Amino acid sequence: MKNLDKNIDGKSYANKLLKKIFPLSQEYFYKFNRKPSLAVILIGEDPASNVYVKNKIRTAEANNIKSIEIKLPTETSEKELLQKIISLNEEVEIDGILVQLPLPNHISEQNVINTINPDKDVDGFHPVNFGKLYMGVPNFVPCTPLGCLYMLKNELKHLSGKNAVIVGRSNIVGKPMASLLLSSDCTVTLTHSKTKYLKEHCKKADILIAAVGCPEMIDDTYVNENAIVIDVGINRVADPLQNKKSMLVGDINYKKVYNIVKKITPVPGGVGPMTIACLMHNTIKAAYKNKKYNFIDILEDST
Ligand code: NDP
Repeated sequence: MKNLDKNIDGKSYANKLLKKIFPLSQEYFYKFNRKPSLAVILIGEDPASNVYVKNKIRTAEANNIKSIEIKLPTETSEKELLQKIISLNEEVEIDGILVQLPLPNHISEQNVINTINPDKDVDGFHPVNFGKLYMGVPNFVPCTPLGCLYMLKNELKHLSGKNAVIVGRSNIVGKPMASLLLSSDCTVTLTHSKTKYLKEHCKKADILIAAVGCPEMIDDTYVNENAIVIDVGINRVADPLQNKKSMLVGDINYKKVYNIVKKITPVPGGVGPMTIACLMHNTIKAAYKNKKYNFIDILEDST
């Protein structure tokens, strides 16, 4: 029988968080006579982006959050997109704005991120939110690293003094993850494609986080038996067992690493569900902020 004890169950953590979010959105409705609202902009026909947006909208609706889906054609100009964002910034009944990435090549991601009002920036990518996080006074924190931190706090209770190694330094995962772990008093090593002796760094980790985008790159030779491993990677590869079918794998070679480490997130069912739950958290937070209402951050409490 398969031993599931080492799995960090992202779905169950996500449900736990959503159970706290649901009453908050209900309370919001009774207080302000409308639901918290999230505008989601999707440009083009990228199938993976379509699936992500559908999941976000479905979870929002199930949690008393009004979602406004804005689908724009691939040919939309940067100017048109920025104007759309500016008008959403000005709409008082829109609490959160999310632009699904990646964008078509003719649109600058940074210009788009810079245009979103930082108080509606539920993805936490705006330079103001990025800077606040780095300074240890977070406003909106990117959903994926926020979800990883929530699981780590629940699994480990105390993060202070832990040796945390992150593979990948993107603005949406690796860097904010490093800031969060640093604020939690971990000793952080942020590695990337030019890092020398990557394996040696990883082997010393109490907490190992992979956000690389290389299928199953990290195997049993990168980990130690006390490591808690968080696999952020989502990679679609051919399924060796089913001809022509594809499957999702992470950046960690789950089968090889599972037998060695203390705990590990599976793919799918690990980081993914937590990312969406944290988006709901950030939306509720934005909605309360919009009404200048004190929001007690439910992620601070890991019970
Ligand atoms: P990026 O492509 O933006 O960044 C990848 C990072 O990995 C870069 O910093 C790069 O280094 C580093 N890297 C690449 N190759 C190596 C290597 N051989 N050794 C060490 N470091 C390497 O990716 P993202 O951060 O956006 O995403 C990473 C993964 O996480 C993807 O699979 C993505 O799909 C997934 N993801 C999952 C989410 C979820 O909800 N579960 C949410 C967001 C992302 P350098 O900077 O030097 O180029």
